[in-house]
Amino acid sequence: MVSRVIPVDPFDLVIFGATGDLARRKILPGLFRRFCAGQIPPDARIVGAARSEIDTAAFHQLVREAIDEFGGKTPCGDAGLEGFLARLAYVPIDAKGTSGWSELCSLLRPDMVRAFYFSVGPSLFGAIAERLHSNGLATDDSRIVVEKPFGHDLATAKALNATLAQHFREDQIYRIDHYLGKETVQNLMAVRFGNMLFEPLWNAQYIDHVQITVAETVGVGGRGAYYDTSGAMRDMVQNHLMQLLCLIAMEPPAKFDPDAVRDEKLKVIRALDPVDFHHIVRGQYGPTDSQPGYREHVENPRSTTESFVALKCHISNWRWANTPFYLRTGKRLKARSSEIAVVFKDTPHSIFGEEAGRHRNVLSILLQPNEGITLQVTIKEPGPGGMRLVDVPLDMTFAEALGPDGEDVPDAYERLIMDVIRGNQTLFMRGDEVEAAWAWTDPIIAGWERRGEVPEPYDSGSTGPEEALMLMHRDGRKWREIRV
Ligand code: NAP
Repeated sequence: MVSRVIPVDPFDLVIFGATGDLARRKILPGLFRRFCAGQIPPDARIVGAARSEIDTAAFHQLVREAIDEFGGKTPCGDAGLEGFLARLAYVPIDAKGTSGWSELCSLLRPDMVRAFYFSVGPSLFGAIAERLHSNGLATDDSRIVVEKPFGHDLATAKALNATLAQHFREDQIYRIDHYLGKETVQNLMAVRFGNMLFEPLWNAQYIDHVQITVAETVGVGGRGAYYDTSGAMRDMVQNHLMQLLCLIAMEPPAKFDPDAVRDEKLKVIRALDPVDFHHIVRGQYGPTDSQPGYREHVENPRSTTESFVALKCHISNWRWANTPFYLRTGKRLKARSSEIAVVFKDTPHSIFGEEAGRHRNVLSILLQPNEGITLQVTIKEPGPGGMRLVDVPLDMTFAEALGPDGEDVPDAYERLIMDVIRGNQTLFMRGDEVEAAWAWTDPIIAGWERRGEVPEPYDSGSTGPEEALMLMHRDGRKWREIRV
């Protein structure tokens, strides 16, 4: 099966923060891959902007090196690279100052889709939006792409929404959560809403619980100063895990269109019960013989910021009444692995007797490092020797059926940037969704602060604190293996 690449309309894309880590690792190599795939038309233009006083030739060199290091498998060779670079210019701009803006104005073409990617620290989001507007760059057909973190709490998220709204309409604002751009996340929607098989079972009557794990092996790395003011709850749960929860739990939207999908996601967040503090475990990774622990990493020996969270929550609506959703995320865990597991209930009666043991269907949606969907089903163990049951995974990724083109799927950033150019907001968070997510997480964080809670230490390379295991054990359940 050959995947179809439909070129987008010609566009001008300005990347603020084009010399930064995200631009070099994801945005620029991703654009190059889309260019190689034939999705970016010949008259598209990409302008890098940052304070660094470099010229376009030096920027081209930076992009060459970024593609060399992070471009992965790129099918269009040296000639393709030169063709891509010919579309790239650079303008030194201070987002908080006045220099560079008129040069940027002169580079952008009228009557063209315009996108401005804010790949800079959040303190610059408002300043850039304001200057785009005051310099007449915010045309009717302009879009802005806003990176995470979107606010630090409800108050700051509301303030940022209000600032952006002074200069751009909501349908021009693309709040990015790259988890939503993953192929498998969209496949999850296809599986749920494109088949008759799952939807009738997708409720509290048939589903025992859902677990969502986002496990990382890395520590806070060079982001220590920022991370210590944030923590796992703000950095991961409020956005990525919450978005995944929404896609699992939402009602079928009437159409696959941006507001229909986001209306349903918003209803899920608003139906979340406040979390009982007995149902939350916070952790902080300790040192190993060879590696410093969290506190050394962030250079704050008294830090009480969590690098791990596990919690149980409930969605108060007809579909999910009394079905627990367990969320878990942490740094320096035993493997890098993100999985959503939908665990179905036991059959009401086992005709095979006690000795057949307990067998459950599990729909597992793996997001990283490899993407894929499997359905664990129970079958008879082949061979003689009576009726013995065994659980086997049914691979629903169908890589073979989709062929080599199916394997070469665009990375999340590639897909999302193309969606921005196409003007499709379905996979981006709306302002009210972000605010609702903060409204749910704020009281949890405030509770920790009020009680002066200190996170439980856990060993690097483990599955997190013991208490996180107990959170499940107390309910007669257990976490899925954190596996690659
Ligand atoms: P970074 O490496 O620190 O890069 C920041 C960029 O902003 C640089 O290009 C910097 O270039 C530019 N910049 C700083 N001050 C500026 C100013 N006053 N005017 C114009 N440009 C300015 O940060 P990053 O890791 O790329 O992250 C960018 C954004 O993406 C952040 O909001 C971050 O939270 C988010 N994000 C990053 C990642 C990631 O993997 N890196 C993942 C998810 C989200 P100059 O110093 O030359 O100005």
